Amino acid sequence: MTKTLQHYADLQALVKEWRGQGKTIGFVPTMGALHAGHAALVRLAKKQCDKVIVSIFVNPLQFGENEDYDKYPRQESQDTAFLTTEKVDAVYLPTMEALYPEGYSVTLDVHKWSDILCAITRPRHFDGVATVVSKFLHQIMPDKAYFGEKDYQQLCVVKLLTRELFLPIEIVGVPIVREADGLALSSRNAYLSEPERRIAPSLYETMVMVGSKTKGGRSPIYYLLKEGKRLLLSRGFTKVDYLEVRDSETLDEVTNTVLRPARLLAAAYIGHTRLIDNIEILP
Ligand code: AMP
Repeated sequence: MTKTLQHYADLQALVKEWRGQGKTIGFVPTMGALHAGHAALVRLAKKQCDKVIVSIFVNPLQFGENEDYDKYPRQESQDTAFLTTEKVDAVYLPTMEALYPEGYSVTLDVHKWSDILCAITRPRHFDGVATVVSKFLHQIMPDKAYFGEKDYQQLCVVKLLTRELFLPIEIVGVPIVREADGLALSSRNAYLSEPERRIAPSLYETMVMVGSKTKGGRSPIYYLLKEGKRLLLSRGFTKVDYLEVRDSETLDEVTNTVLRPARLLAAAYIGHTRLIDNIEILP
């Protein structure tokens, strides 16, 4: 039976009951509009933990003023049915009050990586993510929490905050789930019109092409990236926020040759829709 909860006190009671029974707990935070990418996180959590809690909360703190907080897809009953089919143990749909009590005054400020990748165009985004994730982790204190590699910078920030706030929780990164044509699944893909949807897979295609040419160091990376950006624009992308190779752990930029595990990361617009993606690049 899947339980649904809205209040912190109910969540606390359930977690206490499970802890009393010696159960391990896995936690999967989401913003809803669930798809097979979310299901991959849930399934891994179910495999590794006795009990699994999935949260659905569209966190206002991580949206900028001109971003899509108001139009972000909300479909709670459909999502709850999806999670019941996935046999999760509890769905946490916190009220605003359960996370941000009236007059709240504490937020986190992530200094690291605040001037690279998505943080450039979304200045307080990772502060909002770090604030809500740390609230969830403190409320639940799971053994493991699951995050998609789809949001690679977010995964790095969450690992960082867990370490720096001394949370005894393992952060598990889960590989990206894609459509058959390579497009990474995302709740925001719903914003794409049919013609835009046909353009979208060329993001992954271009990344795979660039990635394959980084091997052997025949062309310097900055040159391949310039070519990649040009290709994206010619395929119908309207703006490329970034296309960069960075060290998988430190996120330091790699401009010439890949000597350690790295990621090729991209953010690009088709019309008003911003897509992000990344792939692993090995030396
Ligand atoms: P969201 O609901 O978009 O905030 O995503 C919730 C979690 O699911 C985050 O950890 C995401 O990185 C992860 N996620 C979203 N899309 C995918 C995907 N296509 N593959 C793997 N994980 C994903």
